[in-house]
Amino acid sequence: MGRKTDYRREFTISDFFCTECGRRGLSCGRRVGSQREAGHLKKLYCMYCGKETNHAEVRPYGAYNVEDFEEEFRLGRFVDGQKIPIAELMSCSKRDCEYNKDGRCWNSNHSFDCGHRPKEV
Ligand SMILES: [Zn+2]
Repeated sequence: MGRKTDYRREFTISDFFCTECGRRGLSCGRRVGSQREAGHLKKLYCMYCGKETNHAEVRPYGAYNVEDFEEEFRLGRFVDGQKIPIAELMSCSKRDCEYNKDGRCWNSNHSFDCGHRPKEV
């Protein structure tokens, strides 16, 4: 069944991580040609949250890996399931802060009160 082998080769398995609880959700096959950019977000049902949440896609050979997701999740990069582009993150002069990545504040969801960030208006 050569046809079947060819068909399977066009798919890779992606893992999806919930942006609300950080746990790994269901994996699913993705057609190679239709893959999105690294860290693509997709709405899926999370069995831990008990509802549909955005999940970050991690591909086996992608530029965005599990460590990337875990870091973004830990630092609070996701806000309401959305990830703010790095270019739009607040710049921060507090270089020794663990949430400061290359001069920008990755704590988008403000889970950490650093005392340095300007108050929201
Ligand atoms: Zn979840």
